[in-house]
Amino acid sequence: MKLKVDDIFFGFDGTSGEYELQIVKQGKKHIEAKVTQKRRDFESSPDVWLLFAPVKKDQTDFIIQKAVELGVSELIPTITRYTNSDRTKTERFVAQSIEAAEQCRRLDIPKVASAKPLSEILSNWDRGRHLYYMDESRTGTPVREAFSQAVAPIAILVGPEGGFSEEELKLLRQLDFTTGVTLGPRILRAETAVVSALSCWQALSGDWVNYKEQS
Ligand code: SAH
Repeated sequence: MKLKVDDIFFGFDGTSGEYELQIVKQGKKHIEAKVTQKRRDFESSPDVWLLFAPVKKDQTDFIIQKAVELGVSELIPTITRYTNSDRTKTERFVAQSIEAAEQCRRLDIPKVASAKPLSEILSNWDRGRHLYYMDESRTGTPVREAFSQAVAPIAILVGPEGGFSEEELKLLRQLDFTTGVTLGPRILRAETAVVSALSCWQALSGDWVNYKEQS
């Protein structure tokens, strides 16, 4: 940062809100700043998890950035049959999610879980959280119908470039805490499916519903 002593910046602590701060002392690695005023009360993002299969580097970066902007509370890299698991770098995902949170002025930073196989995630699932998996096979519930009553806590799962395997789809279909969702007649890229699913959910049951700035 190019800031110097007496300059003002905004900061948040992830629990009580956003503050205006002024730099009092500047060292090589640390700065000292004082709070000059509170700007906003804390508001948490909705309790929606994104389970995504890491894809190529740039597309994975895009998925993380957009998911943070679209308000997810937790990012869970999910290894599926057709996922290239070499691409799961949790530290990089954490750094990117912090940067995206700052950029979009969220007041909380989403958690980033370490990558896990889909089967393991499903066998340890907490049934209080419904899981919506994006199903490109055209057999899912239309997105508006699926998300109209999808009250948080929920999770959204998007498959990799290669899609889900037949066995994965069979397993997902037979579980009692899952719903397959279709995002229309075209096959979307994984990153497009992430942005579409999260936007639809936010508009139908998330924090875009009735959002209006309080004066
Ligand atoms: N390789 C697959 C497509 C995978 S698309 C094929 O050609 O058939 C990557 C992921 O995006 C899918 O696993 C699914 O989760 C999601 N997706 C893409 N298009 C979708 C659609 N129309 N409806 C629901 N999910 C979709």
